[in-house]
Amino acid sequence: MPSDCCFEAEVLAAVVECRWPERVDPELRQHAGACAVCAEVALLATELRADRDRLRAEAAPPESARVWWMAQMRARREAEKAAARPITAAQVLGTAAAAWFAGACYGATSEWFRAEFTQISGTVQTLGVAGFLASGTGLLLAIGTISILVLVPTAVWLAVAKD
Ligand SMILES: [Zn+2]
Repeated sequence: MPSDCCFEAEVLAAVVECRWPERVDPELRQHAGACAVCAEVALLATELRADRDRLRAEAAPPESARVWWMAQMRARREAEKAAARPITAAQVLGTAAAAWFAGACYGATSEWFRAEFTQISGTVQTLGVAGFLASGTGLLLAIGTISILVLVPTAVWLAVAKD
């Protein structure tokens, strides 16, 4: 049995172009009936073409309008997310500034706070910073200050980074 035939490509082209077997030269059809190589090529190519046609018919690609609409919705959602991020950061910063301002107003007007501040200042002047931090009040004040300095940036970072 020969492994190839000079009409093999012609038979294959006829099948791929949907001309096989009705719209080809009668000589080629006659040759394929006698040649094992061409008969096999015609049979396999016909089966593959039928399979391709069946798969194309079964495939249901979405309509272009639907694809466009979904892309628009996705772009809109992403734009909303991107726009909301700076607003959230600004809200956190505004809240922190308002809290700081309220605390400053309270501290400036409260007799108790002024008395405590004066006492703390006196303690720091007599004991030094290290001695003040070693006392219980100084330690609590330092922990509170460090907590605020850590918590506010952490809250801002969490608000900006959430996705
Ligand atoms: Zn042949």
